[in-house]
Amino acid sequence: APPRRRMVEHQLAGKGIRDRRVLEAMGEVPRHLFVDPALLHRAYGDHALPTAEGQTISQPWIVARMLELLAVAPGHRVLEVGTGSGYQTALLARLAERVFSIERVPSLMRAAQGRLDRLGIPNVMFRHGDGTLGWQEFAPYARVLVSAAAPRVPEALREQLADGGVLVIPVGGPDLQHLEVWQRMPGDRWRHVRHGECRFVPLVGRDAWRETPQSEH
Ligand code: SAH
Repeated sequence: APPRRRMVEHQLAGKGIRDRRVLEAMGEVPRHLFVDPALLHRAYGDHALPTAEGQTISQPWIVARMLELLAVAPGHRVLEVGTGSGYQTALLARLAERVFSIERVPSLMRAAQGRLDRLGIPNVMFRHGDGTLGWQEFAPYARVLVSAAAPRVPEALREQLADGGVLVIPVGGPDLQHLEVWQRMPGDRWRHVRHGECRFVPLVGRDAWRETPQSEH
């Protein structure tokens, strides 16, 4: 089987990912176009990979897990914090109606935007800035996905979530986090569930880490 098909069967479906739309999207989006050309041979391996600017493209399994927990429907508007390579952005674009993606490193944002343009993906808006403040202009969002490690859930992201909306975010210290799912119930009540361990690069911003903590992920 081609490498992408193998990735979906062995690393995702074989390891507990059940959501068919997520598996389908990951079978379609060409992950190799999002990695450094020098790492092309590892594009479909079961690991995170380094990208420019000391950031990373997440391990396929954790990307799938986050998307599964997020439970995106075709009519949803999604806010993504931490565009990185744009790989997860491309997946979200297939699952949602429209994606709003924020990245704090301008060169990464531009590279991701270029990749999605070349793939002809039309339903994504990019922004360079601090995603801990959200993107007020297009709020509320049915779904919010943070793909960097947060010390806590940023206030603005909660405020910009629609009633019934779901937010997925890795919360914890710089070296280890848990994937958390927050759901906004009517009357500004919240339900949250803590899932498994994960390791992300730090979320750096006004309502997160103030600068890059000492860590090597
Ligand atoms: N899902 C991405 C991986 C993202 S890595 C992929 O598949 O490629 C996390 C990204 O979050 C990094 O690019 C980092 O620069 C960015 N980031 C960190 N803090 C941020 C903030 N406050 N706002 C927006 N982006 C941020």
